Amino acid sequence: MGINYLYPDFEVVRNQDRCISCRVCERQCANEVHSFDEATGRMKADESKCVNCHRCVSLCPTRALKIVKTDHTFKENANWKGEVIQDIYRQAESGGVLLASMGTPKDYPVYWDKMLVNASQVTNPSIDPLREPMETRTYLGQKESVIKRDANGKIITKTAPQLKLEIPIMFSAMSYGSISYNAHKSLALAAQELGIYYNTGEGGLHEDFYQYGKNTIVQVASGRFGVHPGYLNAGAAIEIKMGQGAKPGIGGHLPGSKIGEDISKTRMIPLHSDAISPAPHHDIYSIEDLRQLVFALKEATAYTKPIIVKVAAVHNISAIASGIARSGADIIAIDGFRGGTGAAPARTRDNVGIPIELALASVDERLRQEGIRGNVSLVVGGSIRSSSDVLKAIALGADAVYVATSALIALGCHLCRTCHSGKCNWGIATQNPELVKRLNPEVGSERLVNLITAWNHELKEMMGGMGINSIEALRGNRLMLRGIGLHETELNILGIKHAGA
Ligand code: SF4
Ligand code: SF4
Repeated sequence: MGINYLYPDFEVVRNQDRCISCRVCERQCANEVHSFDEATGRMKADESKCVNCHRCVSLCPTRALKIVKTDHTFKENANWKGEVIQDIYRQAESGGVLLASMGTPKDYPVYWDKMLVNASQVTNPSIDPLREPMETRTYLGQKESVIKRDANGKIITKTAPQLKLEIPIMFSAMSYGSISYNAHKSLALAAQELGIYYNTGEGGLHEDFYQYGKNTIVQVASGRFGVHPGYLNAGAAIEIKMGQGAKPGIGGHLPGSKIGEDISKTRMIPLHSDAISPAPHHDIYSIEDLRQLVFALKEATAYTKPIIVKVAAVHNISAIASGIARSGADIIAIDGFRGGTGAAPARTRDNVGIPIELALASVDERLRQEGIRGNVSLVVGGSIRSSSDVLKAIALGADAVYVATSALIALGCHLCRTCHSGKCNWGIATQNPELVKRLNPEVGSERLVNLITAWNHELKEMMGGMGINSIEALRGNRLMLRGIGLHETELNILGIKHAGA
């Protein structure tokens, strides 16, 4: 037997005075870490399998467990850090690409945390968000650049199809396959109650969820899984997925082991076959090609649905967005490089793309300069963690934001970042029926509604403090932002002044 070079990342610490050997931890851990040792009459743990998902810790009735990061270490080396060495061991063992899930954990700058928000003082009174109307409703889609009137001088109100959002937050694309039936149902129920939208991702729409169509964005990705006329017409909008923040430039891969009966039917692919979405759409190699697909989808839905084009935030994002805005698309969704994923090559996730804050600022600025900002709405995602991130995104130029990781955390995700294993102990990123039933969709939906409602209260409170009473007045209002600890170039790209200026 070869030597195993990898030392466990975590240690399971069990307080033997508290442990009653009830074996709950054993039943709850799909990674088979815990077991009962007949010889000693005590529980024991195989720490090499622990991913630190906290399921056993949360459900232990006597609070006997904690998981700690191991202090086993390599000799200090600023260049060859322990994780770098461990990755080399892993690849020397497997010969394969390293897989990862969720957003990058690397220590890149988070610009949301380097921007501060303004508040009204003596000369510009704040607005009382409790007693005065605060408008967080917003509409996404192409806007008229000039007001048109009929022969009687009446304003012609017919506009391109719009998405009406009660709160400027939507649930981002997560496919049925990458997340469970119950996770999808939680998102659909919550979107319906909140008056917002959830997104099918590239996995098609399960027949049970057609009833939530008014609050659904249906996605068309390169694999075209589950795409048919009924599907396109079922949603409120159609999203063409060109790229994803966590893995720009590459496609997706859902292993055959996850393609059970329901998923195979929904995706319209054979049972247990790998679901591979190629990096490019094989019919799109230019903006003209994209335009053809945009209008093909509009034709297929009798021009009743706004079309979203989703791209990853990459180096020339403002030029790319300018092209998309001219393609006939109604909404551009930009996914930053900190965005999550069910599975991606670790090197791509951690090294490709750019932060959403910089991408958003440069796209909004470019579209304004070109006089085409009204052609499209901008939706941004890729690690929106709180209401203040939402507020800053809108002040930087977004019309609305997409959230996914925050929504999964609300459902119980503990960010163990092993979604690709299919063994999510919280019933979210799994298709194992025993694990899926751990997530109750009614409870999940209630938690999502609570989260977004709480964020909406905070949004209104902060907008009131700024003396602003509508999302429309906040959008692109960069005077409300100041940078802190940023260099001149960063401030220029963000289009904001430094704090104190
Ligand atoms: S993988 Fe999760 S449930 Fe299993 S031992 Fe580790 S923390 Fe506990
Ligand atoms: S969804 Fe599940 S597997 Fe993925 S990071 Fe969250 S807890 Fe871990």
